[in-house]
Amino acid sequence: MNTNLIKGNLTPENKKIAAKRNIKVKICLKCHAHNSIHATRCRKCGYKGLRLKKPRSEKIKGG
Ligand SMILES: [Zn+2]
Repeated sequence: MNTNLIKGNLTPENKKIAAKRNIKVKICLKCHAHNSIHATRCRKCGYKGLRLKKPRSEKIKGG
């Protein structure tokens, strides 16, 4: 039944899970490394500019 996994397509359910996981991380503005939600600076490069990953896809069009 999971043939779409083989094709690489994300089901709506998979997208939901991915979105949930994504909001738990901060992204370094410098090197784009994923950091803990509680991180104050990048664990990779030490840069303090971290942003929260948006909970929703940025590609969603109005409506
Ligand atoms: Zn970094």
